[in-house]
Amino acid sequence: MSAKKKAVALISGGLDSLLAARVVMDQGVHVEGINFFTGFCVEGHTHAIRKKDREKPKRNNALWVAEQLGIKLHIVDIIDEYKDVVLNPKHGYGANLNPCLDCKIFMVRKAREWIEANGFDFIVTGEVIGQRPMSQRKDTLPVVQSESGVDDLLLRPLCAKILPPTRPEREGWVRREALHDFSGRSRKPQMALAARYGFEDYAQPAGGCCFLTNEQYSVKLADLWQNRGVRDYDLDDILLLKVGRHIRPRPHFKLIVAREEGESRYLQGYRREYPGFDVVSHGGPLTLVDGTLGEDDLELAARIVARYSQGRDSDAVELEFTEPGRDPQRLVVAPLPPHELPGEWLL
Ligand code: SF4
Repeated sequence: MSAKKKAVALISGGLDSLLAARVVMDQGVHVEGINFFTGFCVEGHTHAIRKKDREKPKRNNALWVAEQLGIKLHIVDIIDEYKDVVLNPKHGYGANLNPCLDCKIFMVRKAREWIEANGFDFIVTGEVIGQRPMSQRKDTLPVVQSESGVDDLLLRPLCAKILPPTRPEREGWVRREALHDFSGRSRKPQMALAARYGFEDYAQPAGGCCFLTNEQYSVKLADLWQNRGVRDYDLDDILLLKVGRHIRPRPHFKLIVAREEGESRYLQGYRREYPGFDVVSHGGPLTLVDGTLGEDDLELAARIVARYSQGRDSDAVELEFTEPGRDPQRLVVAPLPPHELPGEWLL
């Protein structure tokens, strides 16, 4: 009897990858999961911080999927290598700064390297023809296959029946008849299959699996590149774009104003690297400064912060400004009236 075949399934944490892995497991294949951490993942990060999202489950959905399936999950940090995908996507961006096609090619290529290094036979993804406008179209699925170099070792169990047979099917490692023919944007077939398997409470990401599909997030990322004069980022940059209200009054500095208690606590962790304001005379949000404040900027920045404090209707608000490694500076300012805060400053 031939040895059991081994597949690695790309696990994003959403329903499709959960189902794709399960369909293949049902055919007696040994499946392990792989999850790539890019830094842009939605993955419960803001839910864990914001009070208003307190009721939402704080979990890593990829780990949850692995637990549901009873499989091993490999979480692979690709933050540095992934930069080139975000900064220079050969196939361009989607509706926002999401380079979905390049991203899929990159992840499948990484998975191919992984199966070669770990003695696995093929790769499984939860892609469905027509499900997403950029990376999951009839004409782009073959691009993922050819440009990732995976050749015909990529099995898409949810739509395999309407694609040419792959090697796992031709060699009989899996039965093609037991695979699926899902297509289009409707999620109903997936939901019906989930119900058949008894999966409940799965994640339903709107629009995509990462923040790059989010319009507001993409505006903030584009602003960061433009005002730093360089298209680059580090992990802290992209994590901070997920938190707080971002206000850019001048090209050389931006304020990140906590919107609530949870965000204030989160931003507190950045005080050693970033200058920041605390409101002393009233209740108020912690605010970080990204960039450098000149002499002329300090008062303007303080007045904006005061505007978001509980002293917004007072004549004067006292604040403390602290730069890393320096003594705090106290200042008293009049909160900036709303009509003096142009909409284009708010990112
Ligand atoms: S939504 Fe994000 S993680 Fe998903 S394919 Fe697009 S760029 Fe990649």
